Amino acid sequence: MSFEKLGLSADLLRAVADQGYETPTPVQANSIPVILAGHDVLAGAQTGTGKTAGFTLPMLQLMHKTHPERSRNHPIRALVLTPTRELAAQVGESIATYGKYLPLRSTVVFGGVGINPQIQKLQRGVDILVATPGRLLDLIGQGKANLGHVEFFVLDEADRMLDMGFIHDIRKVLKMLPKKRQNLLFSATFSEEIKKLANGFLHAPVYVEV
Ligand code: AMP
Repeated sequence: MSFEKLGLSADLLRAVADQGYETPTPVQANSIPVILAGHDVLAGAQTGTGKTAGFTLPMLQLMHKTHPERSRNHPIRALVLTPTRELAAQVGESIATYGKYLPLRSTVVFGGVGINPQIQKLQRGVDILVATPGRLLDLIGQGKANLGHVEFFVLDEADRMLDMGFIHDIRKVLKMLPKKRQNLLFSATFSEEIKKLANGFLHAPVYVEV
């Protein structure tokens, strides 16, 4: 299996090659074509499996394909929720790395640090927002982030999100998202609670396991 065969565009293949990746990991081989085809995905994947590239690469490709030029006011078109600031920063770095040849802007917001620099970045416009739930809700409450144009919603490490008590925040965020969107849920484990959450917002998901 090669990255070329997964249907990724030249700009993304170049970014992947720059990283020195030769072959896709199993979660990448399984999830990339399904995401590119527009399906919702429910993926069982631990950290270290390459799951971040597994959702980032196809999401970047679809976002670039539908709007190859930057729109003037940069509405948030993709939202990635993570349980911790460390993971948010890591996902943000991956998006910057894999998307380096695409004209898409991304930023990361999380709690425990000053909110003003985050507000300034949002005001300049971002296509992709990576966020932890509490800070995201703060920013929305202050009118600094609007989820009305989100086309891609990713819940990363959903099991850890629930362990950390984020279920109510997640439900609040879900209520603000447009109905028509693509959803991706990644989790290392699948408790009844995760299944219930997943059933509540994934639309005919394709199950990807590694
Ligand atoms: P993740 O599970 O997304 O946190 O990724 C774990 C690590 O694997 C990261 O350091 C990536 O840079 C690396 N990685 C992701 N995909 C590949 C690949 N196809 N080949 C080699 N390394 C990879």
